[in-house]
Amino acid sequence: MNDIRVRFAPSPTGALHVGNLRTALYNWLYAKNMQGSFILRIEDTDAQRCSSDAENKIFSSLAKLGLKWDEGPDIGGPHTPYRQSERSAKYETAIKTLLENGFAYHCYCSEADLEAERKKFIASGKPPRYSGKCRNLPVEQISEFKAGKIKPSVRFKVERGVLKINDGVRGHVSFNLSDIGDFIIARSDGAAAYYLASVSDDMDMKITDVIRGEDHLSNTPKQILVARALGGTPPRYHHLSIIQGSDGKKLSKRSGSLDISTLLDSGYAPVAITTAIAMLGWSGVSGKGPESLEEMAKRFNIKKVSKAPCHFDPARLDHINAKAIKQMPSEELIAILKPVMVGFPFEKFSNEKLFKIIDAVKESIHNPSEALLHAEQFIKMDEPDSASLQTLNSNDVREVCAILKKSVAEFEMLNDETFNSVVKSVSSATGLTGKKLYAPIRALVTGKSSGPRLVDIFTILGRDEILKRIEKFVS
Ligand code: GLU
Repeated sequence: MNDIRVRFAPSPTGALHVGNLRTALYNWLYAKNMQGSFILRIEDTDAQRCSSDAENKIFSSLAKLGLKWDEGPDIGGPHTPYRQSERSAKYETAIKTLLENGFAYHCYCSEADLEAERKKFIASGKPPRYSGKCRNLPVEQISEFKAGKIKPSVRFKVERGVLKINDGVRGHVSFNLSDIGDFIIARSDGAAAYYLASVSDDMDMKITDVIRGEDHLSNTPKQILVARALGGTPPRYHHLSIIQGSDGKKLSKRSGSLDISTLLDSGYAPVAITTAIAMLGWSGVSGKGPESLEEMAKRFNIKKVSKAPCHFDPARLDHINAKAIKQMPSEELIAILKPVMVGFPFEKFSNEKLFKIIDAVKESIHNPSEALLHAEQFIKMDEPDSASLQTLNSNDVREVCAILKKSVAEFEMLNDETFNSVVKSVSSATGLTGKKLYAPIRALVTGKSSGPRLVDIFTILGRDEILKRIEKFVS
């Protein structure tokens, strides 16, 4: 391992979604590409919004996706603890240092004072920011506040000037510090605010690179100022562009602001999810099929990540997933599909038969949600669906049915070869080809207009069951 150290620092307020998984994944790929360390830090200072349930979901999704962390709250590491709620003593020390060294001051403004100030700024056409009112309070006034037991917050002093960074994704970015008011680093109840906690942790944990969403770009100057004031060297920053839905609008539930644990529970292959997410900004993945994390890590280059907004397309995920499913060993696939195929009697089949069914299903489905419908065709024949009902009412069906019955009865074993003979017989006797030939055969033996390949249906069901199903139509 070299000295590259990155962190994924989610606030456990909900499950992982497309945006924060992309952040986790790019951090992981960057670390692995550089033989560095990937650290998981839980930013749970906002006790009201954070929950252990959300935290567990994040752990479990990352683990299922193969994004193993080198240090974290559950496995520890040299900079333990890795949960912000357990690090308050460290933040208190940092706040004290900043106060003592003149980088921060106590602010006694009430909510009402701040609101009044905000309104004044807006009325005069200026963007609201803290005026710095408590920076140089007379000693007597401070004593008065103290006597009144008013608990102050702590603000960081922002001096005028311009701060420039060279962002790993966005290039040169300048921030006018006059636009930034003195900001809070500790609330009046003593709790550290985000800017202080994250900088103190990044310094302590020796983070070299911060890779995160563009929504954090405006926090960067504040974090750099705090890091410098604490005597540290700020990490390199890389801000990833926003993710839009395929319609170009902000990612919404419909356009793909998907909860990753739900995707995993709905039978999506982890490798399909990580491949599709890797494409959100990085041009190193073709999207033609799934790519393992290790393969992607070998090629990952943050310099090749675009700063233009990117689009999450659920159809692309489905496409990669269909390919991933086809490449997956049956046993692994059964484990993934089991929770989705509710009601399918897995226990009734021998492993050999089950593997055959699953192998047939994996060839025919595009989306895991289709697996149950396809697999069920091997265990029962429901009432025909409307499209196959139409086929079954067509003129050709009687003839197809008669030839099919006769031809299937001739073979004790149905396999690729005998299935082909059966189809040929029906075709030459009826003159039907293509869809006109296959649709009635499918409707007669499954009652469905789509499903697993017919050759699989015939070979897995076997002669007697096929004949029984055809009889059902005749009777
Ligand atoms: N806890 C922050 C979030 O979930 C992460 C901030 C950061 O990466 O610096 O958005």
